[in-house]
Amino acid sequence: MLFDERPKEDRRELFGRDREVEELKRAAERPLVVLTGIRRIGKTSVLKVALKEMNRPSILIDARGLGPNYGKREFYGLLAQAIRPSLPRLADLLRSVRGVKVLGMEVVLVWKREGGLSLVELFDRLNERKAIIAVDEAQKLRGPLSTEIKNAMAHAYDYDRNLTFILTGSEVGLLWEFLGTEDPESPLYGRYIQEITLERFTEDQSVDFLRRGFEEVGRSPDEELIRKAVEWLDGIPGWLTYFGNACITGKPDLEEIKRKAVRLALGELKNLLSGRPERYKHVLRAIAEKRRSWTEVKRFLEEREGSTVSSSVLQNIMENLQRMSLIRDYSFLDPIYEAAAGQL
Ligand code: ADP
Ligand code: MG
Repeated sequence: MLFDERPKEDRRELFGRDREVEELKRAAERPLVVLTGIRRIGKTSVLKVALKEMNRPSILIDARGLGPNYGKREFYGLLAQAIRPSLPRLADLLRSVRGVKVLGMEVVLVWKREGGLSLVELFDRLNERKAIIAVDEAQKLRGPLSTEIKNAMAHAYDYDRNLTFILTGSEVGLLWEFLGTEDPESPLYGRYIQEITLERFTEDQSVDFLRRGFEEVGRSPDEELIRKAVEWLDGIPGWLTYFGNACITGKPDLEEIKRKAVRLALGELKNLLSGRPERYKHVLRAIAEKRRSWTEVKRFLEEREGSTVSSSVLQNIMENLQRMSLIRDYSFLDPIYEAAAGQL
């Protein structure tokens, strides 16, 4: 169903992304691919559909669960969880890998020094089955273990010709910073990475998406409502889905749906900013209130704080907000986030 809010897994439920799915499948012949695009643009959906169709054994790690200073326990926990669905195809192979125990449908990973799992060994073995290792929201791998993970990936890039890594990321600048292909200190320095970027739906596609979604559940689409929603949602599939779903499960009341969507985005925004200084909020608020230049944002910030603010501090905040893919050139990438930022 098009308005199902979970990531899509089947091509028949995925609207208007045939080209991107094919591109990703072709790119997966190469060692390392990244799939980027703003939140809710459909990365997880495109990834899942492509994985299903490629029919290679795959391990999909959902890195969203990792905190900023995650350790081995958290990482190996996610890895064990990610291996489970592919156990029927991989159990025999994994049984012979040091530090991996397969107990029925469960996987236990040992990471302590003696007898523990080495990622390099795991990747070498998975290479024998032409496996795909996918990491969803891979910028979350940044942290104390990142060098170890990247070392193993670099090894696989050089030696495991059959293994493919596909990484997705909503916070595009942070993802590239994690990979560090231009940083001589990074294990992945100089490696070629193919990038596929998902763009918004066009206005026509958005209208079609909503019409089809309504028709699918036997509702006749309200063209006026669709027009207004499309204007507001700016071609972001996840918000179009949210809107469609809200219409068919409750009252098709645009204002009410807007309030709910903004509340949801506000929660996410606060999460993204947690651990960052209050100033980040002020800067986002300034941009939400249409301050469109360096001078205007700086003045807003100084008025909020009742003190002068150094240019380098503001520079740093602006750069980080761009790396998090929240803003670009003094405007928001997502209109719902913009509305939410007005409430920060
Ligand atoms: P991302 O991983 O980029 O945040 P998701 O794949 O989770 O995005 O998609 C966000 C929401 O939008 C989900 O509810 C998903 O079902 C829906 N969605 C995204 N792209 C499409 C599409 N092309 N066709 C149908 N639904 C989609
Ligand atoms: Mg996702």
